[in-house]
Amino acid sequence: MGRGSTAYRYVVLMAKPYWKWGQICRALSSSVPPIHKEDKVKRVGIKKILIANRGEIACRVMRTAQKLGVQTVAVYSDADRHAKHVHDADEAVHIGPAPASASYLNASAIVTAALETQAQAIHPGYGFLSESSQFAELCKQKGIIFMGPPSAAIQAMGDKSVAKTMMSAAGVPVVPGYHGEDQSVLLLQAEANRIGYPVLIKATQGGGGKGMRIVHSESEFSESLASAQRESQAAFGDSRVLIEKYVSQPRHIEVQIFGDKHGNVVHLNERDCSVQRRHQKIIEEAPAPHITSEFRQRIGQAAVNAAKAVGYESAGTVEFIVDTLSGDFYFMEMNTRLQVEHPVTEMVTGQDLVEWQIRVASGEVLPLQQDQIKLSGHSFEARIYAENVPKGFLPAAGLLHHYHPPAISSTVRVESGVGKGDAVSVFYDPMIAKLVVWGQDRSAALIKLHDCLTKFQISGLPTNIGFLKTLANHHAFAAGDVDTHFIERFKPDLLPVPLVKQDDAVPQETRVGAALAAAAISTTSSRSKEMGSKGFIWNSELGFRLNHEYSRILHFDWKPEAGDVPLVPLALRVTHGKLGDYTVEGHKLEKICITGKQVESDSHEYRLHVNNKSISLSLVQFHQGGVSHVDLWEGERHHQFTVPMPQFDTSDELSGEHRSSGGQHERNQVQTPGAVIAPMAGRVVKLFADNGIKVKKGDAILVLEAMKMEHVVQAPVEGWVRGCKIEVGQQVSDNTILCHIE
Ligand code: ADP
Ligand code: ADP
Ligand code: MG
Repeated sequence: MGRGSTAYRYVVLMAKPYWKWGQICRALSSSVPPIHKEDKVKRVGIKKILIANRGEIACRVMRTAQKLGVQTVAVYSDADRHAKHVHDADEAVHIGPAPASASYLNASAIVTAALETQAQAIHPGYGFLSESSQFAELCKQKGIIFMGPPSAAIQAMGDKSVAKTMMSAAGVPVVPGYHGEDQSVLLLQAEANRIGYPVLIKATQGGGGKGMRIVHSESEFSESLASAQRESQAAFGDSRVLIEKYVSQPRHIEVQIFGDKHGNVVHLNERDCSVQRRHQKIIEEAPAPHITSEFRQRIGQAAVNAAKAVGYESAGTVEFIVDTLSGDFYFMEMNTRLQVEHPVTEMVTGQDLVEWQIRVASGEVLPLQQDQIKLSGHSFEARIYAENVPKGFLPAAGLLHHYHPPAISSTVRVESGVGKGDAVSVFYDPMIAKLVVWGQDRSAALIKLHDCLTKFQISGLPTNIGFLKTLANHHAFAAGDVDTHFIERFKPDLLPVPLVKQDDAVPQETRVGAALAAAAISTTSSRSKEMGSKGFIWNSELGFRLNHEYSRILHFDWKPEAGDVPLVPLALRVTHGKLGDYTVEGHKLEKICITGKQVESDSHEYRLHVNNKSISLSLVQFHQGGVSHVDLWEGERHHQFTVPMPQFDTSDELSGEHRSSGGQHERNQVQTPGAVIAPMAGRVVKLFADNGIKVKKGDAILVLEAMKMEHVVQAPVEGWVRGCKIEVGQQVSDNTILCHIE
């Protein structure tokens, strides 16, 4: 690329001020992470790369490419025409329709796009084609640099049995077990007996937790084996399995490794990813809590040995399972790509791993040698997902009506591929953003994590932010007392409790939240009136005059966090006083006097004086599915309400909590006991039931697939299937009635 190109000028212009700022920060305080020194940007051999991915990882790779003056090419599907990654790239190429199989997994379309745009290299990101040895091979054949390891290493590590055999040979500890070719049932049974129960059966081609079964005793073995083989055959087209000792209280600790084309391999320390749901990580941290530097050194060396054994190049992760009872660690698998959670390693080492990937792909030697790699402070990553926590963390889809992440700084990173107004679709991963924080030590980083989660505002679809906040506040997590059963173990503390008795169960803070929302809305609508537009919720002129005060009742329906419970109606009387003040009263709510206003017009921020206390809050209103929604963030709390159709209730009835608020109630209730309802939006991939057949409670009716996961929808009661009009391949939305069991 020429000197005069935009990207190059960008580096020159931006490098200096950042460098000074970095120096000032370091001089003023030691509480900043070892951030990347942008003054040291050296140009790289590769001039143009194509990023074969989407979302936050595509955006993240482009950021580093731009820093290095490397031109970027994005690829996109029909669903992503207006996506952030397309916008951020220098060029973008359309590669197919929305389903990943026809676009982001379409290797030949991607390679063609690279050839046409003259990209020298392809960065695969994670997921999609990142661990496809055929794709790596295809790139090589076409003379394109694949920014990852050689295809042989991908292939070897993609087979759990081959990987384990190679690792044992290289002296890397593996979980005691059997990973041979002979798959006869008798032999497998004998091996399980030898290993000793409990054992874990795993599909050799497995991934994402599929084809895995825990077996507790000899009598269960053959049945579990058959079902693991069936699942594996269906998912990976291969029924081979391996058997290993089931570690009962494990931690998941992984090591970031890096290799170059000159045979050098280093590790960049470990990450702890023990906190998982559905076998998937949600909070990761570096370094791992409660390990000694001697353990770090040993596990790091084992990872380097593992990488050397397969002739590794580029970024990789060696996953280990650590037995918390014995302290032993075992090789579990190797992920031959950059990992979602790589930023925590960047935060504690001060390195930019994507920059390392680009340099190594260009043929440079590793930027640092092992003894130059430092570890400083502590970092957490929380994955913010569009998901329904109370429904067992099922993925959700929808529109981001409001997206306001915390302010980024040298200690706070937000990686996201979406913004306000964007959709989280059923086609791809439901991750909205990654929040990455750094602190001088674990407790400082945890305080920051909690604080940033509190400030992370999203509305329009369900997210796991509330859950993550509770998790970050949990005493056992604060103590670093983590293992892979953490969420299961502390479920009662972590998950919102469904309400039993509606009215009594409304927390006082929710009533106050509703009062604050009512007051804030009143200040906005008074302003919008002045500006000649109609208020959002006050869509009536109705009110009545009492000594020159206006008084009106506002109805809210509270959406408790605990999911599928009925909305709880709340009624508030707001009286607009002569001095621009508001008095809010409600059932079981003492009169609150509120003054104050929006910080700026069109802003979501409000400064209110509540009973002589001054507070800040954020309020967002939006329409969705014919319903008005109100989201309020105040202190550590996030309240969510909907507004029923306006009822001009001028009576004095404030105990309106028993009023029926019509349609929305029904929407949120399970209609009849026999209704089979889609718990998430998705595509029907298998249909077991047909009209007229008899099913038992718990029988599989159909399988829904969305965002990389399959979910089996079961019969809620025993009976005959009726009214089923669903077909395989059909897309259904959340809460659709699929059929009835009579
Ligand atoms: P996948 O390819 O599906 O990610 P892994 O082999 O990485 O499969 O295992 C996924 C998860 O299953 C691990 O993170 C860990 O929680 C659990 N697990 C794997 N092996 C064992 C084992 N031997 N004992 C106990 N838990 C295990
Ligand atoms: P004026 O212009 O004389 O103050 P408005 O009818 O325009 O009277 O009301 C001023 C603002 O007061 C409205 O825009 C609205 O925000 C608020 N308001 C009106 N009626 C009510 C009510 N019943 N409860 C709370 N606030 C109200
Ligand atoms: Mg794994």
